Amino acid sequence: MENVVIMGTGCAGLTAAIYTARANLNPLVLTGTMPGGLLTTTSIVENFPGFPEGVDGFELMSRLQKQAERFGARIKFATVESVDLSQRPFKLVADGEMVETKSLIIATGAGHRHLGLESERLLDKKGVTYCATCDGALPMFRNKPLVVVGGGDSACEEAMYLTRFASTVYLVHRRDQLRASRIMEERTLANPKITPIWDTVVTEILDVKQDKVTGVRLKNVKTNGEVVQDCAGVFVAIGHVPNTRLFNGVLDMDEAGYLKAACGSATKVPGVFVAGDCSDRVYRQAITAAGMGCAAAIDCERFLGSDET
Ligand code: NAP
Repeated sequence: MENVVIMGTGCAGLTAAIYTARANLNPLVLTGTMPGGLLTTTSIVENFPGFPEGVDGFELMSRLQKQAERFGARIKFATVESVDLSQRPFKLVADGEMVETKSLIIATGAGHRHLGLESERLLDKKGVTYCATCDGALPMFRNKPLVVVGGGDSACEEAMYLTRFASTVYLVHRRDQLRASRIMEERTLANPKITPIWDTVVTEILDVKQDKVTGVRLKNVKTNGEVVQDCAGVFVAIGHVPNTRLFNGVLDMDEAGYLKAACGSATKVPGVFVAGDCSDRVYRQAITAAGMGCAAAIDCERFLGSDET
């Protein structure tokens, strides 16, 4: 029987692991399908305190993992398939194996939001991608026009990163103003290799028949005018959806699927705590996720030390 299982190894999960390990709770940390979480797919993280020169996202997560392991956290590559939180000990099935635990910290993060187009699905990994750092350097994208969809910090970051490889980056945004932070907006719009296309949505990714991306059909939402823009790749960066499907009907969530805490990090089920992007639709920063992981670990430690257990 575990004292605490932590689901997720992003900033929230690994910070919870550091704290619960240091509290001698011997945490079992289950990675899910993306060890290190979304930050491993980013390039330089410039706003994590303590790194004045910035830090590579993958390196930051590797360091957090080492720090957690140094204090005894056990990190296991496994994905939870089902949960039974109806009574303690809680029962989880991870990669076919049953795990029983006195408490659970959910830090399952978020995944990439999709445009929802049939052509997007059919051309996934054939020129459609959700991660410039992972795929931007592929030969198929070199010296070719590329499209980034979105207007937030992620879209700006992707667009800037892709200017290393692309001939031109078209930044397609559905409004005429970016949502990104001021510093990212200024850098993006000042980059001569980035051409914004305002008030525009992608209605189709071409060309399914050729089984590769050759362009996008764009619609101006103000004029309804349609054009086809040639490109070799489409990088979708339109935000995230929380990875909370397992908890449908079990824990409280808002209409977008973010888990709701009842008090601090505690959910309505005593012994179950939430942290990071799976429960944060407001801040969604690496440092706030780390802070939430710390809070969940402290709440969990107090719960286990109380008479309730
Ligand atoms: P976001 O801030 O939610 O922005 C999503 C963007 O996609 C918005 O511009 C939105 O348009 C657009 N969008 C959403 N759904 C769409 C759809 N169906 N079709 C077309 N466009 C759509 O997401 P994010 O950029 O991934 O950022 C998430 C969080 O991470 C933010 O808090 C951000 O600050 C943080 N972040 C920070 C950094 C950094 O500091 N370096 C880097 C990446 C992310 P509207 O603007 O019209 O809503």
